[in-house]
Amino acid sequence: MFDLNDKVAVVTGARRGIGKGIAEKLAEAGAKIVISDIDQEECDSAAAEIAERFSREAIGIKCDVSSKEEVDSLIQKTVERFGKLDILVNNAGIFFQKPLMDYTEEDWDKVLQVNLKGVYLCSQAAAREMIKNSYGKIVSVSSIAGIIGYPDAAAYCASKAGIINLTREMAIELAKHKINVNSVAPGLIETPMTQHIIEDQEQFQKTLAGIPWNRQGHPSDIANAVHYLVSDEADYVTGQTIVVDGGWTIQ
Ligand code: NAP
Repeated sequence: MFDLNDKVAVVTGARRGIGKGIAEKLAEAGAKIVISDIDQEECDSAAAEIAERFSREAIGIKCDVSSKEEVDSLIQKTVERFGKLDILVNNAGIFFQKPLMDYTEEDWDKVLQVNLKGVYLCSQAAAREMIKNSYGKIVSVSSIAGIIGYPDAAAYCASKAGIINLTREMAIELAKHKINVNSVAPGLIETPMTQHIIEDQEQFQKTLAGIPWNRQGHPSDIANAVHYLVSDEADYVTGQTIVVDGGWTIQ
């Protein structure tokens, strides 16, 4: 089930956290993996670890997703190495909290450029290759902060809501090329990004009280949903966002 043998997958922001968990899951299912992130050495070491652990081809390619030049080069190098691109996972993202009244224009631009423009740039470049083969799976990691408000995170909430509707729009345009476009919206997942929330026991316990499953999620929880969406079993699913949050947003 959900076999990815011979598929070629690029995962952005994959040197650690959710992205690394996704890359591991796709490699386990048979895919050849491109680990992309902003530091070449870290990409190389994550790729080497995955290649050894799952006996798959895995390479690292540095790419700042907010740079069109670097994104184009990421896709070009992937195709040079593997001959095609089947799967793109837009995972790279940044999060920080600041009250709205303290927000600067630079803060706003930085978050939107990485979190939303990055998804547009990577998806467009990847789709150009996928169209050639009339096959493709694009999954973007949004957030429940794109569905409900989250305090002191104006640009983050806006960027993640933008991903959810960009997903619908791209799904419509790319359907004729047999390309599926979907999104996964995580709740609280334990990664370096959320370490400060989990270490603050008072805030953490308060958050857990609002989550019916009464636990934080792990990168594997998100990777399992992505694995389904990039598989052929999900061919008829497009433009959707699967919420993976232990029930946080249902009450
Ligand atoms: P993480 O541990 O911080 O990993 C994100 C990775 O993306 C980091 O390696 C980061 O590098 C990299 N990155 C940052 N800017 C980049 C850029 N411009 N180009 C390429 N890579 C870049 O975060 P995570 O928790 O795994 O989050 C992964 C995704 O899930 C993000 O989109 C996040 O918004 C989303 N998400 C996470 C949670 C959660 O609870 N963890 C919840 C909802 C959504 P640096 O560390 O060097 O910046």
